Parts: sequence; structure tokens; C-alpha cells
Amino acid sequence: MSILQAGMDLFLQEDEERKEKAKKRQEESRFPSLYFKNGDTYLCRFIGGVNPIPFYKHTYEEGRANFICPSKGACPMCLAGNSPSLRGMFAVLVRNFPEKDAEYKVIGTKEQVARLELSATAVMAFGESHKEMDFTNKDVNIKRTGEGKNTNYLFFPKGVTKLTDKEKKLELPNWEEFLTPASPEDMRKYLNRYRSLEPEEETKRDWDKIDI
Ligand SMILES: [Zn+2]
Repeated sequence: MSILQAGMDLFLQEDEERKEKAKKRQEESRFPSLYFKNGDTYLCRFIGGVNPIPFYKHTYEEGRANFICPSKGACPMCLAGNSPSLRGMFAVLVRNFPEKDAEYKVIGTKEQVARLELSATAVMAFGESHKEMDFTNKDVNIKRTGEGKNTNYLFFPKGVTKLTDKEKKLELPNWEEFLTPASPEDMRKYLNRYRSLEPEEETKRDWDKIDI
């Protein structure tokens, strides 16, 4: 292969990656992630059913970098000592739009379906509440309280209501697109960068002994 060809291949590869990322961003904006601050309450309809879509997620840099774990216990990040957390995803139709919350305005219209991601603890709390109060065919007020490890979600059902014909026809997220696991190569690439970001942590983790 000529030097020119090798150089060109790199540009083409980068371009593919850029297009892929742009596509992903667009997909994501069609089904934005519902973001709760401490004290926020949203009135939601579990439009895709009340069963969570489960997945494992690796989190770094205080949640700024996230990777879907492809195989719990066996992926490069698991082997590097980062335990993935079990999460549950739901599709929800959001009924209230607090004007004060600028970050939330991206949700846009009332016909927008959003993704609600909950921790394992919150999914358990949801399941317990559902057993008692049955959230099928009901709008549900979801309230977040607390911060960090003390975060709790509370679920209060409203009366039974029917979905409109328009609401019934709303497209739901294709979970496979959203929950595509990170590739082992991308994980290794990130781990190498992360090591360079946190030199003090590196000695604690003893990276050299980890075979990824
Ligand atoms: Zn993993």
C-alpha cells in the first residue's frame, strides 16, 4: 500500500466515524433522555409498557463518560476493575413541561417520547409501587429526591386514562440502537486515555498488572 493510500484510508475511516456519531446524535435527539434534578417531578405515561429494558453500564469521570457493557465480567472495562451498574430503560410520554428548566426544553412537544433511565434501586422501587398501585393505563408522577447515593425516585399514579389515537401511533425507541455495547477496541482506547488523565489514580489501580 502506498503512503498516499494509507493516509487516505485514515481520512475515510475518520469520516465514517464522524458520520456514525452524527447519526447517533440525531437518533438520540428523537428520543431525548429525561433528566431529573433533585426535587423535580415529571408526569409521565409508560408508553412502552412497565417492564424495564435492562442493560449494564460502565461510568467514568463522574458520569461524563459512559459505555454500555457488552458482557458483564468479561469486557475490557470489567477486567480493568470498573464494575458495571445494572440500569433499566423505559419509554415515557412526558405530560408536564416546566418552563423554568432550560435544559429540559429540548423535549419540545407534548407528543415527544423520551427515554427514562433508572438505576437498579429505582427500578426496584418502581416495581414495588407498581405491584401496589398498578401503573398500567395510568399517568404516573415521578419525583426525584436526594443526591448521589441517596437519590430516590417516588412514583404516584394518577387516574386511569386512555391514550389518544395519536399517542397510540407514536414511534417508540429502537432499543438496540440505543443500547449497542461499546466495542472492546473503543473501551481499550478510552482506558488508555483515562490512564493518562489520572496519573495519581493509576498507581492505586496498578494498571500494569491488568491484562486487557
Ligand atoms: Zn463490562
